[in-house]
Amino acid sequence: MRVPLLRGRSWLPEAGEVRPNDEVTATATVGVLALQGDFQEHCTALRGLGVSVTEVRRADQLDAIDALIIPGGESTSMAKLMDAYGMRVPLQTFAASGRPTWGTCAGLILLASRLAEDRPEPLGLMDIAVQRDGFGRQVDSFETELDIAGVQGGPVHAVFIRAPLILETGSDVQTLASLADGTAVVVRQGHLLASAFHPELTGDARMHRYFVEMLPVGASP
Ligand code: GLN
Repeated sequence: MRVPLLRGRSWLPEAGEVRPNDEVTATATVGVLALQGDFQEHCTALRGLGVSVTEVRRADQLDAIDALIIPGGESTSMAKLMDAYGMRVPLQTFAASGRPTWGTCAGLILLASRLAEDRPEPLGLMDIAVQRDGFGRQVDSFETELDIAGVQGGPVHAVFIRAPLILETGSDVQTLASLADGTAVVVRQGHLLASAFHPELTGDARMHRYFVEMLPVGASP
């Protein structure tokens, strides 16, 4: 069942709260692209899991991380900054190296290979076609419970804010979660992960844990 966005945000965690069993033994460093958007919330979720985190603002920082999250925000602004800072090709090279890369919301838009709109120019990494704001405008933002394949412990509370709509998935793309009408909202293509909603906003780090577990065993400390 979909419900409109809660005003009280009752699902937000208390500052610093880590839910029991959320901590993972991680030896890797996860980067969060920190040009624009809600990168801080991703950093908080990762740190809650005991993961070492780098806010990535320059291309050379990509050499020192084992995995990358591209956060939610505004995809045209993020793409502009990415191009202004010369990060487009380094980000494509990073993902081509096989290191896990996860895009949430605007990050999903940037990972796509095809967009229904002319802007922004996406990174073209994942075999998905996407329509920006495909669920409607801000007032059409919603929350729902989602079962996600590979995420244990029951449904995840998912917050969709001017979310992108996945229109098509290529044959190598696996759908990990869908809405009741069959719309794919979490997809994976090998080391690439994309979610149309914002797992970083709810204080439930199970999707972050799933992502960290995509790291090959023995990733550099
Ligand atoms: N609609 C935004 C865009 O097109 C994405 C929204 C979000 O990241 N919450 O970039």
